[in-house]
Amino acid sequence: MSKNQLIPVTPVETQAAVTCANCAACCCQLEVILLSDTGVPKHYIDIDDWGGEVMLRLDDGWCVALDRDSMLCTIYENRPWVCREFEMASPECIEERQGLATIYR
Ligand code: SF4
Ligand code: SF4
Repeated sequence: MSKNQLIPVTPVETQAAVTCANCAACCCQLEVILLSDTGVPKHYIDIDDWGGEVMLRLDDGWCVALDRDSMLCTIYENRPWVCREFEMASPECIEERQGLATIYR
């Protein structure tokens, strides 16, 4: 195939603003350890292999408290301390977004 016959490629936008508004709640698939009582409903709490309290996750890995239509937290006012400390645009956030990059391309 000559150069003139190459199929045009549309560049992927890799520098999109990092905001929760354009993220598919990537960080809500991570294990969330409950370090303090913030009022998480009991039926959203699981016990890990070491006996600690964690947010219950569904078989596909997403936190049970995530609304799967809006991709927003349904217990935002009572979300665990770990969720409050997970900073948007932090290195950890960027890493999670890259892991699911195809969702928002
Ligand atoms: S903190 Fe980062 S990974 Fe979590 S929802 Fe917001 S943009 Fe996505
Ligand atoms: S409690 Fe809310 S913010 Fe924390 S992982 Fe679950 S859905 Fe995400």
